Amino acid sequence: MSNEYHYDLVVVGGGPAGSSAAYAAAKNGIKVALLEKEGTIAETVRTSGVTWIQNIKEFGIPNDCFNPIRNFSFCSPNNEVTISDSIPRAAVLDVRKTYRWLAKQAEQVGADIFVKINVIDVIKDDKGDIVGVIGAGPEGKITFHSKVVIDASGFPSSVCKTMGFVTQWERFGAGAEYEVKAEHVDSERWWLMVGQQYSPAGYAWIFPVGNNIVRIGVGVGKPESNVDPTQRLKELMDSKLGPIKKLGEITPIEFHYGLIPNDGLSRKTVFNNLILVGDSAGQANPLVLEGIRYAIKFGRVAGKVAADAIKSGNTDESKLYPYEENWRKEIESKINSAGKVQDRWIGLSDEEWDKELDIIKELKPEEFLDFIKADFGLSNMIKLAAHHPKLAVRQLFSLVKGKK
Ligand SMILES: Cc1cc2nc3c(=O)[nH]c(=O)nc-3n(C[C@H](O)[C@H](O)[C@H](O)COP(=O)(O)OP(=O)(O)OC[C@H]3O[C@@H](n4cnc5c(N)ncnc54)[C@H](O)[C@@H]3O)c2cc1C
Repeated sequence: MSNEYHYDLVVVGGGPAGSSAAYAAAKNGIKVALLEKEGTIAETVRTSGVTWIQNIKEFGIPNDCFNPIRNFSFCSPNNEVTISDSIPRAAVLDVRKTYRWLAKQAEQVGADIFVKINVIDVIKDDKGDIVGVIGAGPEGKITFHSKVVIDASGFPSSVCKTMGFVTQWERFGAGAEYEVKAEHVDSERWWLMVGQQYSPAGYAWIFPVGNNIVRIGVGVGKPESNVDPTQRLKELMDSKLGPIKKLGEITPIEFHYGLIPNDGLSRKTVFNNLILVGDSAGQANPLVLEGIRYAIKFGRVAGKVAADAIKSGNTDESKLYPYEENWRKEIESKINSAGKVQDRWIGLSDEEWDKELDIIKELKPEEFLDFIKADFGLSNMIKLAAHHPKLAVRQLFSLVKGKK
């Protein structure tokens, strides 16, 4: 392996954002390197993999990469609700298969994938703009020169941190999860579990992945709570609290742990020759801390915009700005509204959660899904805010609309 390479675009991180950016850029005819620090793509799973069938279809993700979900169950200490849809609109991804498929897509259109390359430094020109990165590989240091760098390194935001553009996220979610084989599984039903016992600032979950395998997890908001999600997960599994008991005998297969930013859309995401995308840009729906579909969607936008700028010979911030404009237009107001609902949810006591579930019971499946996806405005939420007979329901949806 050479220790010096020249590419048009270097993408750092082989997660969904990086692979999607590399795919769109290489498809647009430029020379792309995708750098991943682990030994294979998706070697470590750091996510639960819930996403939406509509997005899966839009991205062309193959049918054997996900398990469809049609029944949405919520439980609080003294309440329970199930919203059943006629067709599955949600899904739990086979994360490894999906992420590897995304990387393969990039490779098939000409991107070069380098694994075991941990990006540890940046190369700057005399103006201080980024013009490449330095990675540590099994055979020592490797230099990648490029016209544009896309930082898709996820939570650590390795490149833009090294550039001095950002510091560590202050508000974030920490999640621990066991993938387990279980005795009794309803493969079309997910469970979200709320209240102090499950998570003091967050929620616990059971997500089925098919073949009697489920992911049982706990997410905890930081700095709101100092509970360790791994410890809490062990306690919940040992005590078989709530719907965990319904699973019968469980045998752990694999442990997952991850961090997800929850600072809102606080970051600038384009600089001269540099784009941030996915978790490194904080692009996640804060209500349930899901970011995979945004990582893929805006990864593709970032790759296309970078390719166009490179081909034009000008990769200044202004030429990369259409990327930021695109994602802000699409998700900024939704994410801000979702942040308000999240602030309300983080402050709820167990009794208040019991009542909140009574509000959720009032929703039709499509309203519930638009709500949880933060796709406010798609269904009749404005009508719910104005005309619903229950004051509590009107209050919840007024919050979404930004009214007090
Ligand atoms: C516990 C938990 C549960 C979640 N559940 C869901 C869910 O159900 N649904 C959902 O949509 N989202 C979920 N998320 C969020 C989702 O995982 C992220 O939004 C998504 O993975 C972001 O993709 P990404 O490509 O930006 O980052 P990542 O998936 O984190 O990928 C970043 C990649 O960059 C690599 N990398 C990092 N640093 C370097 C470096 N210096 N050099 C080279 N490579 C590097 C990493 O190894 C990794 O492969 C969850 C997150 C957590 C923590």
